[in-house]
Amino acid sequence: MGCLDEGHFNVEHDNVVSNGCVELGLEEEGNTSAIEDAVKVLLLGLGEDVNREGLRKTPLRVAKALREGTRGYRQKVKDIVQGALFPEAGLDNRVGHAGGAGGLVLVRDLDHFSYCEACLLPFQVKCHVGYISSGQRVVGLSKLSRVTDVFAKRLQEPQRLANEICTALHQEIKPAGVAVVIQCSHIHFPNIESVLLDSKHQGWVKILVSSGSGVFENKSADVWADFYNLLKFRGIDREEIQFRVSSDQCWCPSLSSLSAEASSKIEAVNPVTVAAVASILKSLGEDPLRKELAGTPGRFVKWLMNFQNCNMEMRLNGFLGNGMNSSDTNGNANLNDKQICSELNMPFWSQCEHHLLPFHGVVHIGYLGSDGFKPIGKSLLQSIVHFYGFKLQVQERLTRQIAETISPLLGGDVIVVVEASHTCMISRGIQKFGSSTATIAVLGNFLTDASARAMFLQSIPSSTSPEGL
Ligand SMILES: [Zn+2]
Ligand SMILES: [Zn+2]
Repeated sequence: MGCLDEGHFNVEHDNVVSNGCVELGLEEEGNTSAIEDAVKVLLLGLGEDVNREGLRKTPLRVAKALREGTRGYRQKVKDIVQGALFPEAGLDNRVGHAGGAGGLVLVRDLDHFSYCEACLLPFQVKCHVGYISSGQRVVGLSKLSRVTDVFAKRLQEPQRLANEICTALHQEIKPAGVAVVIQCSHIHFPNIESVLLDSKHQGWVKILVSSGSGVFENKSADVWADFYNLLKFRGIDREEIQFRVSSDQCWCPSLSSLSAEASSKIEAVNPVTVAAVASILKSLGEDPLRKELAGTPGRFVKWLMNFQNCNMEMRLNGFLGNGMNSSDTNGNANLNDKQICSELNMPFWSQCEHHLLPFHGVVHIGYLGSDGFKPIGKSLLQSIVHFYGFKLQVQERLTRQIAETISPLLGGDVIVVVEASHTCMISRGIQKFGSSTATIAVLGNFLTDASARAMFLQSIPSSTSPEGL
C-alpha cells in the first residue's frame, strides 16, 4: 500500500490544471467575516475540525464565493446598458422581420450559474436572449450577457430569472419585444437512505423556461417561431417549454424529497446550523423573510448533513448484510491464470471540502481474480463508495481511500477510477457543462502492468462519463 502515491495520478479532461477543484480568483468584495463565522458553525455541525489543513481556508473561500455568486444584488442594469445603446437604421423605420436592425437579434448559449433559492446549491444556466429593436436603437451584444448575469447572480428560480431578464432588458432598451429562453440543470438531491436503497438514483434535474415582452408577449406569436427555429439545432423544442400553472410548483429536487414535517425535524435537530444558514442569507442582502426562502436553511442543512463525519459501521449499518451476495456484472480478459474483474459505473455524491459544493459522478473498480470468483459483491463495493463519498472530500483522497479499503478485500491488485463533475468548477465558468475530472489509484500488479491498466481503462464505456448523468 506504500506504493500508492507513485501509482496515483490525475487525468484532467479539457486541459484544466487543478487539484480536483479550483481556487476561486474572486474580487474582494465587502466584508465576509459574518459569513465565515457561519460557515465555521456548519463545519462544526458536520463534526469536522475547522483547523484541519484542508478546511482552514474553507470559510473564507465559501464566503467569497457566495458574495461573488450573489453580486447581482449590488448591480444595476441601467449602469450596464446605458452608453451601450447606439443608433442603427432598420429595414424601414418600423418593426421588421427580415433580419438586421429592426429584425430579430438573438444571442445564444450564454452560460451562467445561479444559486437555487430553495436549497442554496448552485444550478447551471444556459440562456438564449433575443430582441427586436425599435426606434433605431440597438444594444451592444455583450450587454445581453452582462444583464443576464446580474439576475443569475442571485438566489433564483428559473422562471423568475427569465422574467427578470426580460423585464429589465425591455425597460432599458425599449425594443419592440424581448424573448428569453433558459435551460437549467440542478444536481439531484440524494440522501443516504434513498441512495443506498436505489442505485439508479442519479442525474440532473432539468427545466426549460421562457419569458417574452412586447411582440413576444403572446407565446403563440409568429416571432416566437423564428426564435425557436434559430434554436432548433440545439435540441430545443418549443413544445418542451414548461407552462407551469403556479409558482408554488418548484423544480428544486430538495422540495420533492423533503416533506414539511421532515423539514421541521431537521430544524429541531440542528437549530444552530439552520440559524447559521439563515444568517448567511441575510448577509448576502436577501430578505430571509421572503416566502420562497422560508425553508431554505433547513433544506441546505439537510443536504449538508449527508456529509457528516462518522464511522463506517454507523454509515453502513444494515447494508453490509446483503453485500456478500453474488454480483451482477462480469469480468473478462485472461491475465496468466488471473482475470481482470470489474465493477463499473457505481454512482457517488460528495462535497468538496474546499468550497462546500457538491461533486458527483461514477466510480469504476477493477481487480485481479481467478475463475470469475468474486470475493465481494457489487453492493458492498457500492456501499464503500458511498461511505467515502458522503463526507467532505477532495476527489484525489476519495479515490485513494476507496483503493486502500478494497485492496485487502480483493487480493491487493486493484485499480480505481473516479469520474466526476465539480460544481465548484462549473459555477465559476472555469469548466462547462459535461466536463469532468478523472482520477486513478492503482495498487499491486496494476502498478507495474501497463497493459492490464490499459485493458481495464478501455473497458470503461465512454457513455459512462458524468456528462450523461
Ligand atoms: Zn472545490
Ligand atoms: Zn435547489
